[in-house]
Formats: sequence, structure tokens, C-alpha cells
Amino acid sequence: MHETPDRRAVSVLGSTGSVGVNVLKVVEAFPDRFEIVGLAAGRNVHVLARQIARHRPRAISVADAGCLEELGRLVDLAGIQVGLGTDGMVAVATVPAARIVVASAVGAVGLLPTYRALQAGKDVALANKETLVMAGALMRAAAAATGARLLPIDSEHCALHQCLSGREPASVKRLLLTASGGPFRTWKGNLAEVRPADALKHPTWNMGRKISIDSATLMNKGLEVIEARWLFDVPGERIDVVVHPQSIVHSMVEFVDGTILAQLGPTDMRLPIQYALTYPEVWPSTIPGMDFGHALSLTFEPPDHERFPALGLARRALREEGTQPAALNAANEEAVAAFLADLVPFPAIAETVEAVMDAHAVTRPARIEDVLEADAWARVRARDELSRRPLPASRA
Ligand code: MG
Repeated sequence: MHETPDRRAVSVLGSTGSVGVNVLKVVEAFPDRFEIVGLAAGRNVHVLARQIARHRPRAISVADAGCLEELGRLVDLAGIQVGLGTDGMVAVATVPAARIVVASAVGAVGLLPTYRALQAGKDVALANKETLVMAGALMRAAAAATGARLLPIDSEHCALHQCLSGREPASVKRLLLTASGGPFRTWKGNLAEVRPADALKHPTWNMGRKISIDSATLMNKGLEVIEARWLFDVPGERIDVVVHPQSIVHSMVEFVDGTILAQLGPTDMRLPIQYALTYPEVWPSTIPGMDFGHALSLTFEPPDHERFPALGLARRALREEGTQPAALNAANEEAVAAFLADLVPFPAIAETVEAVMDAHAVTRPARIEDVLEADAWARVRARDELSRRPLPASRA
């Protein structure tokens, strides 16, 4: 098969997840302009098999040999380079044909493949905010060294990217990240009693499980403050969070002259995905636009730091720098997994993160391996903290 030279060759890390599936929808809406050359997934082999049959990529990866065997029974893998685990993901991230790598794996698992993609000079469309939280300075340095572009898929950062476009850095007063406030914003009950199913009900966005819990604790917004610091090189003190329950304003930038620019749009991940994949061009979208044919209210309020301490913990990690954001992220991933398994109550998530941060001896990571070491240490420590917590009241 011959490629047209102007077709954009895309590799997707985390192709079967909530963002990955939407990435493929965008790609499939422009079959003459995109080509899928790599797909990396974990254990969801049924969805991956359908994606492989449709796109026939050059390289694929799954979690382990058992998954690969099952995949081989579902789809013909002849002529496709196959890989497993982190090595397989790195191979998909650096497949020579790829021009853009979409980093949409969830959590720390995406760190090394995303880093290697930047080192290989690939443009990275980043949905995996955890990688910038863990190793923002190293990621920026890798992109700068090869000239690779780092483009946000996170809707808030996509908004900031648009508001900042063509503006002098010195003209920026502050970034204003909007937050929906999550499912417990107006809930008056005891947060110790909420169940995983309650926390998974996001009011405005339909997302994966991990990010839905992060939205309920507001840790998602904390991670996004750190992500914005590295994407736009703006210090944390000049990044504020505004709760905006309708999720129509995706973020804002205030300039030194007092002007505020906001980006608005429907809550559909395909918009920021298409922005990143087509940048700096703008292609027509097939998604219905905003409907101003009926009354629409936009409201804004400050976040409640007392009920949602995670936001403050993320700011603290950013101030302490070095490996502390990686420790925060690892502890959060472990605590969210324990909460989703109904092993700890909701407030234990932020409490565990704080305990792990208190115990962490912060160092300056010189290499990506130093970050992975801090991540591994924090996971062990977090599991220990979590194992000593009482079961949720509903299970005791
Ligand atoms: Mg976001």
C-alpha cells in the first residue's frame, strides 16, 4: 500500500481506553488524511482486534504473552510487528513511520514510551497528564533537544494553548483552569460514606474510571495545574483554579492589561483531539456545535479546599519540585485503585497521598530512571499506608 506523503501517520498509546477510542473516531472521520501506524493497548484485546482489522498498523503491543495469544486468535497479525508490556509500548511509540504519537495510556505506565517518542523526535499529542506530572522537566528537555512538539489533548490545556497562541509570554498575568467541581461539589453528606459508583458519576464529562475518581477528589485539577506549569512554562503561583460546573468554558488566560480570553465549546473529547492532531491547521468538525437557541447560564465559584485537599497537595508537590510530584502521582494511583476496589473510604485517597509525600525524601531527577525509582518507592509506601486503613463503613 502506498502512502500519500501528506497523510499524517499516527501511533496511539492506550488505543482501547476512553481517549484512545475517541482518537480513532477522529482519525476515521478523515480517512484520506490520517494513517494509523501503531496501536498499543493493555488487556482489552477484543477492542484492539477490531482496531487492528480496520487499520492494519505496522506495530502493535499488548500487556503480556497471554493477551497476545488471545489477540492472535481474534485477528490476523501477519506482517505486523508485535510487542509486549513497556518494551512493546516503546516500540509502538518510536515506530519509524509515526509522525505523531498520541499518549493516551492512563497513569505512570505511559511515562517511558512518551519520553522515548519525544527523544525520537515525534510530535506528541498528550492526554496522559501523569507523564508531565512525574517528569515535566525531563519531558520538556527531551522535546527541546529534538524539536518535537508537545501538544495537549486535555481539554483545559487545549483551551489555554488556543488562548495563548500568538501572545508574548510577558503579557500573561495568570492561567485560569476551569474545573467542573466533580460529582460531590454540592453534596452535603459525609464524604467518608461515598461509594465508588457515586464517585464515578461525573456531571459533565464521560471519562475513564481513574480520571473520574480524580475529578471527584479534585486531584485531576491538581495534576492539571502541574501539567500546565510544564506545558506553558508558567510558575504554579500564576495558575489558578475556578470551579465552573457547566464545563463550557474550558479554561481562560488573564493578561497583564486585564483582558481575559476564554475558550468555549461542547464537552466532547474529539474537539481537543482533533485540535492536537491537525495543529497548526484547523479542519472542519463533524461534531454538533454549541446551541445558543435556548437560555444558557455560565457560573463560576472558588474551589472548596477544605473538603477537597487534593488540590492543595498537588500545589505543594509543585513547590517542593524534584521527585515529589512523581511521589504524589504514584500514591494517588495506588489510592484510587484501592478506593475503586472498595478497600478504603474516599477521604483515604488524599490522606494516603499526604502521608506518602510527608515520608518522601525529595531528590532532583537527572534521568528518567530516577523518576521511575521515586514512583516505585511511593507505590510500596502507599500500599503499606492503605493496608493499615479500616475498610469503608459500608463493608465493615
Ligand atoms: Mg482536563
